[in-house]
Amino acid sequence: MAEVVVLGAGLSGTLMAYELVPQLRDGDRLTVIGQGPRYHFVPSNPWVAIGWRKREDIEVDLEEVMRRKGVRYLGQGAKRVHTGENRIDLEDGSSLSYDYLVVATGPDLAFDEVPGLGPNGYTQSICHVDHAVRAHDAFERLASKPGPIVVGAVQGASCFGPAYEFAFILDTELRKRRIRDKVPMTFVTSEPYIGHLGLDGVGDTKTLLESEMRDRHIKWITNAKVKTVDAEKMSVEEVDEDGALRRTHELPFAFAMMLPAFRGVPAVFGIEKLTNPRGFILVDKHQRNPEYRNVFAVGVGVAIAPVSPSPVPVGVPKTGFMIESMVTATALNIGALLRDQPAGAEATWNAVCLADFGDSGVAFVAQPQIPPRNVNWASKGDWVHYAKVAFEKFFLHKIRRGESEPYYERFVLERLGIRKIKTTA
Ligand SMILES: Cc1cc2nc3c(=O)[nH]c(=O)nc-3n(C[C@H](O)[C@H](O)[C@H](O)COP(=O)(O)OP(=O)(O)OC[C@H]3O[C@@H](n4cnc5c(N)ncnc54)[C@H](O)[C@@H]3O)c2cc1C
Repeated sequence: MAEVVVLGAGLSGTLMAYELVPQLRDGDRLTVIGQGPRYHFVPSNPWVAIGWRKREDIEVDLEEVMRRKGVRYLGQGAKRVHTGENRIDLEDGSSLSYDYLVVATGPDLAFDEVPGLGPNGYTQSICHVDHAVRAHDAFERLASKPGPIVVGAVQGASCFGPAYEFAFILDTELRKRRIRDKVPMTFVTSEPYIGHLGLDGVGDTKTLLESEMRDRHIKWITNAKVKTVDAEKMSVEEVDEDGALRRTHELPFAFAMMLPAFRGVPAVFGIEKLTNPRGFILVDKHQRNPEYRNVFAVGVGVAIAPVSPSPVPVGVPKTGFMIESMVTATALNIGALLRDQPAGAEATWNAVCLADFGDSGVAFVAQPQIPPRNVNWASKGDWVHYAKVAFEKFFLHKIRRGESEPYYERFVLERLGIRKIKTTA
């Protein structure tokens, strides 16, 4: 019987396990390898950093849920994958063989590519809940001694939505505390224009987000490369559309949060023909590696080419719904292979996103996420904030129950015409 292994137990890995369970035959075994016993809901990290959530509000004990579902959970983490031998070395010195492997390891955060960047340097991060907890302490220090804020995403970043969200919820919280007037804010981004999001915009996100920035008195610098960060100052080069230096900015700050560039995690980085030069897993349209046919990948760790050239490198974001579509396709494909059938399921890579501003927000639907698109829609409203809170509760409920897509979710998505799997002729 088959040994199926999911490597990584974040958003994609956890859902992957839940969707694989019904695909297994009697006697097949499913193992999930995580780092530690708990799952945390990454999209809520900005709220943790601002103090609107505690870490325990957004964490789930995975060991217990996986046990209930009959999935073996190993929390010691993987050291290295050996694709030639269908084997994984774990951090505790043990080793595990697989027949099918799904890599769901998310990003390695490349703070080291900019001197002074990140929680071990001088800027905060919201990419991990541990970082968000530390960012909250720094935010409280800022609140007691207000000063300038810099928020954004550095060169090579591929995740921009959370940077906008964080800038706007900081603004909302500072206004609530009546200290916004003492806090000048600057948004620094590698995007060629505000609202590009690594996707050449969705609907009119350019106008929507620029207008929101103006409304909230947040200045911005686009086409930006962060050169260095010191204790209280960020050096930023702004380039023109040909990439030539236009201006250098020295930005003083009392609090800064910059999203880093992502790359593949060390357990897979540099495996020839499995990964691209940044360590992301190469996949075909069935989420399957072209060389190692028993290896699939889902989530942020998947290699996707940029949508178009830009003066400063920007990557394509891998958003939640898009990731869920990768997961569903992979589960169907492994289920088919276990039954000696072809792996023909193809994910839509549609994107449905809610970006929270603390008191309102922007929703967007991009079908598919990579342009040109069949649906290209974005809209702003107070309802988005409430929808995002509701979605957080719903998603955590699903993770706790060990469910990927309850029937009512499937029903609503079907009615809206939002699909995870392409119907192929
Ligand atoms: C701050 C932030 C907010 C976001 N908000 C949204 C949002 O609102 N909407 C949206 O659509 N998308 C959002 N995203 C994008 C995306 O949905 C999330 O990043 C999502 O968590 C990605 O899922 P993933 O499974 O690929 O990675 P992750 O959720 O990061 O999971 C990867 C897991 O792999 C584990 N891992 C790594 N290496 C190993 C190893 N060697 N051994 C074992 N385990 C390992 C890690 O511990 C981690 O648990 C956000 C991203 C960020 C950073």
